[in-house]
Amino acid sequence: MRFGTRLALFVTATLLVVGATTGVGVRFLLRDILIDDGKTQVVAAEARFHKQLTELGRSMAEGVRLLTLDFALRRAIADRDAATVLSALRNHGRRVGASRTILIDTDGTVAGDTSDDAAGAGAAFPFPALLDRAAEEEYAAMVAIVENKPVWLVVVPVLAPDPIAYIAAALPLDSARLLRMQDAIGLPGQLGLAARGPAGWRQVAGSMGDRLPEHLPLEGNEPTVVAFDGDEDIVLTRILAVPENSPAVMTVIGYPLSDALRRYQRILLGLVPALALGGGAALIGLAAIARGVSRPIEVLAGYTERIAAGDYTPPPPLARGDELGQLSVALHAMTRAISDREDRIRHQATHDPITGLTNRDAFLATVQAADPAGAMVVVALTAWRDTVRTVGREIGEGLMHDVGQRIASILPANVPLGAIGENAFAVYLPGADPAAARAIAAHIAELCDLPYRNADPYLEPGLNIDIPVAAGIALRPDHGSDPALLVRRAEVALLAAMQQQTRVASYDPDADPHRPMRLSLMNDLRVGLRRNEFQLLYQPKLDLRTNTITGAEALIRWQHPTQGFLPPDEFISLAEQTGNIQHVTRWVLRNGLLEASAWQAAGLSVRLAINLSVRDLSDEKLPERIAELLQNIGLPPRALVLEVTESAIMGEPERAIAVLRRLEQLGLDIAIDDFGVGQSSLAYLRRLPICEIKLDKSFIMQLRQNSDDRTIVRSVIELAHGLGYRVTAEGVEDAFGLDLLRSFGCDYAQGYYIARPLPAATFRALVASGPDPALGAPA
Ligand code: C2E
Ligand code: CA
Ligand code: CA
Repeated sequence: MRFGTRLALFVTATLLVVGATTGVGVRFLLRDILIDDGKTQVVAAEARFHKQLTELGRSMAEGVRLLTLDFALRRAIADRDAATVLSALRNHGRRVGASRTILIDTDGTVAGDTSDDAAGAGAAFPFPALLDRAAEEEYAAMVAIVENKPVWLVVVPVLAPDPIAYIAAALPLDSARLLRMQDAIGLPGQLGLAARGPAGWRQVAGSMGDRLPEHLPLEGNEPTVVAFDGDEDIVLTRILAVPENSPAVMTVIGYPLSDALRRYQRILLGLVPALALGGGAALIGLAAIARGVSRPIEVLAGYTERIAAGDYTPPPPLARGDELGQLSVALHAMTRAISDREDRIRHQATHDPITGLTNRDAFLATVQAADPAGAMVVVALTAWRDTVRTVGREIGEGLMHDVGQRIASILPANVPLGAIGENAFAVYLPGADPAAARAIAAHIAELCDLPYRNADPYLEPGLNIDIPVAAGIALRPDHGSDPALLVRRAEVALLAAMQQQTRVASYDPDADPHRPMRLSLMNDLRVGLRRNEFQLLYQPKLDLRTNTITGAEALIRWQHPTQGFLPPDEFISLAEQTGNIQHVTRWVLRNGLLEASAWQAAGLSVRLAINLSVRDLSDEKLPERIAELLQNIGLPPRALVLEVTESAIMGEPERAIAVLRRLEQLGLDIAIDDFGVGQSSLAYLRRLPICEIKLDKSFIMQLRQNSDDRTIVRSVIELAHGLGYRVTAEGVEDAFGLDLLRSFGCDYAQGYYIARPLPAATFRALVASGPDPALGAPA
């Protein structure tokens, strides 16, 4: 129910209740007042009626006494002239209003009677006491019932000077007379006379009629409220004095309470339209007020519903000075605050706090909606973690922010750019072909050639930090349409770029380690290691001073049951990326060392070189495992050389160096493999516990053609020797190279010219056959 309706209903109900209780209250009050008033009235009326009766008796007695003085009458009485007496009685009786006049002898017998049907002369006067009283008090007057009718009986003595006779005059107290008397006393109710008969009281004259109450109050009663026929009267009765032989008579005075009340009720009822009118007016006024209150409340409620539905356009404030106005102003402010907060939350939910760029989820959503053809470029700060470790997270984050700004500055506004990881950004180039994507990726990489200069004076002011980056590209729809998949593929390309030491690479489905075919290959790998599908080949290492074979590098081969022969390049890096390389390393160590112990048993003095990969160097249990293996097989640590690439160390240098130190402490020699292709200098290597450098074959294979390579190789050998390292050259493919290396003072040579990687038995036979003069004269 609406507020306005409720208010109107409540007020109407209140009005009705107040009206009704007032009406009822007033009615009862009025009744009390009317009863009091009625009682006073009946008491007064009764007194006046009584006084009238007395007055009537006195004036009648006066008239009758005048008659007794009449000489003719006195003569007639003395002469016993009945006819004259009767005539005089009639005349005088009529004059005083008497209906009957009687002459009574002193002995109490009737001497003459004007009534026609009277008992006649000689009968006894029925009320002898009245005669005595008249003689004593000049006259006597009393109500009496004569022939069943009430009369006012006056008796006067005829004095001469003693009473010689009595004259009685009867005035009928009939209803007409009582009515006149009632008028005279001004009584609004009823006046009646009741006589006691054998059946109780009954009205003998008056206006009571049938209304004579059954249980009349006895004489001397106070005025009493009596109910009959649904009406109420105030009734007062009084027993009148009657002669001894008359039935008892009483006056009954009734005052109709109901009539009086009815009069006031009319006034009360007259109030009803006034009340209704007032109520109506109040209702209309109230409805207006309620509308004035409830309309704006409805408007405000409407606003809050809108807010709940997520519409935060602030409502226009109501132009009101009251609380509702204040409420609307508050609502306005609240909506604004909520919408601001919502905006902030939405911004936080969709943006990266460090760079201020779109975050991963929001970026993917934007790409989802963008042109379905295009290129995804993922750019990562490759050294970011090292940077953070060195200069702290705050500067690292400042760096990320700066790079984000740089990238954003070269992109058109409609190109989605997001920060998708702690050190990576993604750009989606709608409609870009591979060439355009490469150009943009290269441009972004170039932007990062300029070192980051820390601007915050509180954080190492003026610090310059290099920003090495790599970028991977995946094409849509060629490499997928799902944005998340595209990002993943661009990340695969990015990893490839990092491995290939280039800055930009495109996704190559065949090289993707995450592809299902590759994953199943990894499954096959673990099974294959158990089933001996793998084989180790041994490539000899020639000692260039003695021209004898003093070492061998173990190189793994896989004869896959369905895919045939797989070179290590096909599965080694895949195993590294999928965390399976440890299984390979364990297998190689075990089988290589078993072969080495066979060499020892055969009296061949050959050191075994084994390749470790980056994951091996983060395995802290590796040194213990190798020590245990050497002990179990019964080989001294000197028998084993471990080959490690620079890039394997660079990933997590501290950890790798710790592992390498422990290996060195065990007495193992460590060689740096593929030296020259990485970025590190010889000076950097000084931090590492190594004793051998393997010059990468790319410098060796073209020694004959390339004089630069010759210069490089020569100086590296000299520098390495200066630092106390032995040098191995791998990829020696011809005699020229071998001779040149020997002239440069290189320690060992490895390559197809000396021997290809050989099966164990072939290798053993080769070593056992002694030095090959073709490779130089043995020492
Ligand atoms: P690497 O450690 O640099 O191994 C030397 C590679 O150069 C071998 O290729 C070898 O066959 C090849 N090679 C040797 N002499 C010459 C030459 O005169 N000319 C040319 N063009 N190549 C020559 P391979 O056996 O295919 O191995 C490739 C790579 O696979 C290795 O490079 C090594 O990084 C990895 N690898 C091989 N076996 C293992 C292993 O058991 N464990 C680990 N972790 N990696 C291995
Ligand atoms: Ca190697
Ligand atoms: Ca190598």
